[in-house]
Amino acid sequence: MIAAKMLIDGAWVDSRGARIEVINPARGEVIGTVPVATPEDIDEALRAAKSALPDWSGRPPAQRAAVLNRIAAVIAERAEDLGRQMTAEQGKPVNEAVGEISKLADTFAFYAEEATRVHGEIIPNTSNAYQSLVTYEPVGVIAAITPWNYPAELIGWKLAAGLAAGCTLVIKPPELTPLCPLAIMACLQEAGLPPGVANMVTGSGARVGQRLIESPLVDKIAFTGSSAVGLHIQQSIKDIKSLSLELGGNSPLIVTAKADLEAAVKGAVRRSFRNCGQICIAVNRIYVAEPVYDAFLEKFAATADALVVDDGLDNPAADLGALCSQEPLGKTEAHLADAVDKGARLICGGAPPEGAKFESGFFFRPTAVADCTHDMLVMTQETFGPLVGIAPFATLKDAVRLANDTPYGLAAYAYTKDLDEMRYLSRHLDYGSVAVNTVDPGIINAPYGGRKQSGIGVEHGRDGLFEYLHAKHIRVCFDEDAIS
Ligand code: NAP
Ligand code: MG
Repeated sequence: MIAAKMLIDGAWVDSRGARIEVINPARGEVIGTVPVATPEDIDEALRAAKSALPDWSGRPPAQRAAVLNRIAAVIAERAEDLGRQMTAEQGKPVNEAVGEISKLADTFAFYAEEATRVHGEIIPNTSNAYQSLVTYEPVGVIAAITPWNYPAELIGWKLAAGLAAGCTLVIKPPELTPLCPLAIMACLQEAGLPPGVANMVTGSGARVGQRLIESPLVDKIAFTGSSAVGLHIQQSIKDIKSLSLELGGNSPLIVTAKADLEAAVKGAVRRSFRNCGQICIAVNRIYVAEPVYDAFLEKFAATADALVVDDGLDNPAADLGALCSQEPLGKTEAHLADAVDKGARLICGGAPPEGAKFESGFFFRPTAVADCTHDMLVMTQETFGPLVGIAPFATLKDAVRLANDTPYGLAAYAYTKDLDEMRYLSRHLDYGSVAVNTVDPGIINAPYGGRKQSGIGVEHGRDGLFEYLHAKHIRVCFDEDAIS
């Protein structure tokens, strides 16, 4: 049992308030508790971030980069422990969790380099007497709020980019998975990050998160989570501040008649069911060209049926662990029942795995329904569970129209070997990321963000760093006549 503390101004502190339990979702056991931050705790963390700002932002970028590189090294060294901690509270198999931690370490290394490459500009004026310089300065104090599906990486993208830019942060990790994030904060301390530069307060979104975003001490909110909470945050801010929102998705995958079918099935299964489908860019719905529809369904069902569902701590190499809580499990069951009621055909899964070891956890077999239409929830809402809907299409234009028929715009996928199809799909899919012949659209050095109800702003890459910087224009008038 872990009795965790929060990190405020370089000190590990207990709240003056209540504590909440953290559960292992595969076993239904309490594995620890975290404090619920009081309004005073939150304000103290924000004041610490504010007072740490002048020193941290004033350091030459190379000095900040050195700290970020040390953080990367400490995290990489602790990857196995941090990964197991994540599995214990999130449910994903250990190998996958350790992989997430390695990517977190890479994120710090990437932004360490990027920190030293924030160049300004000199802009021509209409008179030679004037010179315009553009420099970049940190936005200030960041409130970072993240969900439980990628407990480490989603914090890391904000933390590494924010620190590289010279900002300071107060982070609220998700209630369901706060222990791995707190362990990451210990790595930051060990790597020598000065007190107050990054703080973490725990507790619920409705109370702790809300207090944080409403504070006048916050210069920018960096939020990842559902579109509903993102919209609520946008509507509840009472003063002007920067806002980036990485929100929900409803990602389509198009498989054309000219696709490599084996590769398409492999990719479709991976991106539908990895992390139990609890991914903002999970494939939610698949449109398959009529001539290859039956063959695709057969191969897809066989590949999904072969996936291993297990307790992620016992079996680090399992394909699916437990879902993180009852909420995504209930939504999966509801979307499945709705689809079947409306005439969809179950082709694989459809129930929890059998056996006593699965009874106290939130488990479900990878599940697919065929012959789906857009009056079904599975095709129009984000399930965030191991369920995918599949439908045939007649023409590529129909497929793109169906794919774009959603208020979301995070990521879309396509499989085709034909260049003209590739170009048509990548131009007309209305999404922040389009991945063709791969289901891994995110790499740390390219921008990643949503359109429409999927959010505003980007993370990753150089653009992700500039989200934490303000441009400043300095215009100077020189006097050449004064020179003798
Ligand atoms: P959520 O319910 O929106 O919660 C996200 C975070 O916001 C949690 O830390 C939550 O706290 C907090 N929160 C809730 N209400 C708040 C409020 N009034 N003020 C401030 N903070 C508040 O999302 P979730 O269910 O955890 O995660 C799943 C969603 O995240 C999905 O929609 C998924 O698509 C999206 N997501 C998007 C991306 C992306 O990059 N676009 C990546 C991953 C996930 P507590 O939960 O601790 O109470
Ligand atoms: Mg939620």
